[in-house]
Amino acid sequence: KLDFHPSGRHVLQIPGPSPVPDRLLRAMSYPTIDHRGPEFAMLGLKVLAGIKRIFKTTQPVIIYSSSGTGAWEGALVNTLCPGDRILMYETGHFASLWREMAENLGLRPERIGRDGVEGWRRGVEADLIEQRLRADGGHAIKAVCVVHNETSTGVTSDIASVRRAIDAAGHPALLLVDTISGLASADYRHDAWGADVTVSGSQKGLMLPPGLGFNAVSQKALHAHAAARLPRSYWDWTPILKANETGYWPTTPNTNLLYALSEAIEMIEEEGLDRVFARHARLAEACRAAVRGWGLDIQCADPQVYSPVLTGVMMPEGVDANAVRQRIAETFDLSLGTGLGRMAGRMFRIGHLGDCNDLSLMAALAGCEMGLKLSGVRLAGSGVVAAMDLLARTEVHSLTKV
Ligand code: PLP
Repeated sequence: KLDFHPSGRHVLQIPGPSPVPDRLLRAMSYPTIDHRGPEFAMLGLKVLAGIKRIFKTTQPVIIYSSSGTGAWEGALVNTLCPGDRILMYETGHFASLWREMAENLGLRPERIGRDGVEGWRRGVEADLIEQRLRADGGHAIKAVCVVHNETSTGVTSDIASVRRAIDAAGHPALLLVDTISGLASADYRHDAWGADVTVSGSQKGLMLPPGLGFNAVSQKALHAHAAARLPRSYWDWTPILKANETGYWPTTPNTNLLYALSEAIEMIEEEGLDRVFARHARLAEACRAAVRGWGLDIQCADPQVYSPVLTGVMMPEGVDANAVRQRIAETFDLSLGTGLGRMAGRMFRIGHLGDCNDLSLMAALAGCEMGLKLSGVRLAGSGVVAAMDLLARTEVHSLTKV
């Protein structure tokens, strides 16, 4: 327990939940209304239409009152049958948790991807998927599951290449994609990339608190849904889609988070989705400049798939990343992401997503640099100066609309 309340703002720089802008907090404070009344339907129809633009889809998007994990379950139970084989690409901790869920649900997931730590430093290699599907002449594999932005490592995979691999193999498997931490931060195109179910959550690029989960679905996924036999009840798309036609939900929706979602979509569209992506890409580049300036390694080993959402920072041998993180949190009131799964203690993660700008990133980097020094980590130079140089050179995010 802290002895006193720290002054100034807490710096929340984990890769989700991301900081909730005041505008969204205010929207959430509107009175909760009758979720069966006419006013509610206006809100419901507005957010259901708006969220499609964020997923870049014209097909339905289901909104659940749940965290992202619930939406993972929604994607599986609505499209698959007990004992179905599915191919799950392991890019990191979240991909392996999704696989664990598939096992718990009675599916037969098959892990694909490079072994060991190496597999957690790269994106999805679509040719491995293509080879495996070509070998599945009997089409026993019913779905391919991939994580778009692997939050545990800071790697953003190329989803279009996965679609091409499935098509090149002439395989009918569904493509299920987790972009829980990618949506509204990294470019994502549900329709153009041929995803069948895209899973997301509210607490990352959408800047909301945790509590909403999403499934964007394709026509093919809806066909699979009609035949799917895994037990489902709360997650069942059918009653939700029916109620959504008139702007309602079959159960009590999270009204105040939907107010915030409506406002978040407005904020994102005022800035422009492409400008939002460009802002994330530039901040990520500045963050990586800082890590290089410190002489430390970036967790993602392939520059082609660096994440615009977060950067994993590897600690030198013998340095406990969690001790550094804790020191930074206690000294500067700055929260960084911990190393997850097999990366525990070996790295920390800097989030640069959602309501983040040059100065919020610089505050986080300054906290990291001071904390690394306090922890006795030998640095090659100033990452803060390297990041500032990069930001000063690349002024793409003017505050006035162009
Ligand atoms: N998948 C990814 C890529 C995530 O980043 C997370 C959470 O951070 C999850 C799944 C799980 O979502 P939640 O914790 O909202 O249930």
